[in-house]
Amino acid sequence: MPDFLTIAGMPRQELLRLLSATQKNVSIAEGRSPNRTTLNGQVIANLFFEDSTRTRCSFETAVHRLGGQVFNLTPSGSSISKGESLVDTARNIECMGVAAIVVRCAVSGGAKMVADGVKCPVINAGDGRHEHPTQAILDISTLMEEFGSVEGRTVAIVGDIINSRVARSVTHALSTLGAHVRLVGPPTLVSKSFERITQGPGMVLTMSDLDSALDGVDAVMMLRVQFERAAGGAVSSDYRQMFGLTPQRIAKLAPHVVILHPGPMNRGIEIDDRVADDPLRSRILRQVTHGVAARMAVLEMALGANVITAAHNRIEA
Ligand code: ASP
Repeated sequence: MPDFLTIAGMPRQELLRLLSATQKNVSIAEGRSPNRTTLNGQVIANLFFEDSTRTRCSFETAVHRLGGQVFNLTPSGSSISKGESLVDTARNIECMGVAAIVVRCAVSGGAKMVADGVKCPVINAGDGRHEHPTQAILDISTLMEEFGSVEGRTVAIVGDIINSRVARSVTHALSTLGAHVRLVGPPTLVSKSFERITQGPGMVLTMSDLDSALDGVDAVMMLRVQFERAAGGAVSSDYRQMFGLTPQRIAKLAPHVVILHPGPMNRGIEIDDRVADDPLRSRILRQVTHGVAARMAVLEMALGANVITAAHNRIEA
């Protein structure tokens, strides 16, 4: 059963297939085209060991849009709060006959641990600082809607890079697809080692001066400082002035440049209100719609075999 755990090492063709499926799903995600029934009769488990708004709700919505059923398990109200491990929890849930497990956890590599412990497909919904592969699909799908292709485009990703699973996954994907990435932030939050992520024709550079990093970009992705991962100590009081996306900064950008943010935003720190809500440049809410479309594509990919078997069983019956 195909798990979906990382973007690192994912072949370009596979990435493009998922992106194309995502783009076809957008009109369903918007409620403009009819839902599908590919997950009819299937139950998906959302195991969210870390908080989430967009990822959890969009996985739920994606399952509904595909005709399946979904339940959520979070630490409060479950035996996780009594100390049950990630893998034990997942194994028990699998025995309830779920078709796939979507997992978010604070442990880097936790999604792989779950995948090694169960037989059903596992989808990584963000594991610690490691990866957030479905976020990369939705980010690039949003950019493709804008530019057709990301090849040859330059994207600046700004903020707490070191703690960001979003930055890691999307940098892998952009580089595979031939886009250039500038990772920008204070030296305490950006590691040169990210330059080694380069896995395709796109170049990855680390930088610490935001104004020069914004020169010639096509898109800017802002990231919040991950205070829950102890990044706060690395942030000085002039953070907004040095690394915040302000109206003054976006006024200097070319008219076609768009702004992304995976959310949650810390308004007034990494992004000002007038930038987040800029009607011409902000694609932040559009990303959320692409999030549903991307998760539909990933669920269908992961469950492909199951879905076909289920349909076959129904015909046999
Ligand atoms: N929502 C994203 C994540 O789960 C980004 C963030 O939390 O800052 O990684």
